[in-house]
Amino acid sequence: MRVLITGGAGFLGSHLCDRFLSEGHTVIAMDNLITGTTRNIEHLAGHERFLFIKHDVTNYIYVEGPLDAVLHFASPASPIDYLTYPIQTLKVGALGTHKALGLAKSKEARFMLASTSEVYGDPKVHPQVETYWGNVNPIGPRGVYDEAKRFAEAMTMAYHRYHGLDTRIARIFNTYGPRMRLDDGRVVPNFIGQALRGEPLTIYGDGTQTRSFCYVEDEIEGLYRLLMSDETDPVNIGNPHEISIREFASLINELTGNTAGVVFQKSKRIEGDPQTRRPDITRARRVLGWEPTIDIREGLERTIAYFREQLETGE
Ligand code: UDP
Repeated sequence: MRVLITGGAGFLGSHLCDRFLSEGHTVIAMDNLITGTTRNIEHLAGHERFLFIKHDVTNYIYVEGPLDAVLHFASPASPIDYLTYPIQTLKVGALGTHKALGLAKSKEARFMLASTSEVYGDPKVHPQVETYWGNVNPIGPRGVYDEAKRFAEAMTMAYHRYHGLDTRIARIFNTYGPRMRLDDGRVVPNFIGQALRGEPLTIYGDGTQTRSFCYVEDEIEGLYRLLMSDETDPVNIGNPHEISIREFASLINELTGNTAGVVFQKSKRIEGDPQTRRPDITRARRVLGWEPTIDIREGLERTIAYFREQLETGE
């Protein structure tokens, strides 16, 4: 296949590039580099089946030659990033999705949208099943991301229904691993960075809120299988192992040997921060035969090793 990956220099995008190349496909990565970085793909420079194009996909996308798949992964993805770039976040979810769908249609390519657990907002159904419509405040600070992704799903389904486009929607839950930016503000890099510097971990609110963390290798496997499947309804791709942020902090301190403990920062909790989050992955198990295999300790050990190296080399 010849595939275009928007957001190809980002965290998930760059891992997807690796995966598609290793399966023998040709990959074109596109990124405007506002939150992605060419460091994530520098090891691919000169690869004969890889091409990088710096482009903002909210503008018309031109790609020469045929395409078999378009994977739309461009977007700021951490709350801190999308609060820094609220308009760009809305634009890439809305205009960027439209452009990427238009490209897929003109190339008769399959399209996959990187959607998110954020479409469920602060959920009133737990764990979250794909049939749940969510609880999102459109005008809250997180609305710029949540509503952009909800719009993107609606646009994807419209192209599927009205143009007969072959589409996939992945609802991605909190994913972590190498190539997350140390300064992206999310809980995994924040806590690991703090722990490796011997600082107390900053828990926002009282730390009773929960998340379910999926190691990137598992996530990529789920995404790859989804693209190759024929499932056109949304599929949750995440790890159902749920943990409170307080427990998560203890685990990071234990795994890094950090003795500085934690501090509670009530005011740093962003309005609308979901209290619970856990994917129901019954559909993924059934249609993709997929479930995560890497447990949180193993995943965190690998991630800690990556961040330790980043800190040592000063990157
Ligand atoms: N969080 C925290 N300390 C931090 C960063 C985040 O306690 O230094 C909390 C945040 O309030 C949220 C959870 O960790 O409840 C996950 O936050 P993240 O930014 O990773 O992503 P989210 O799942 O909210 O999109």
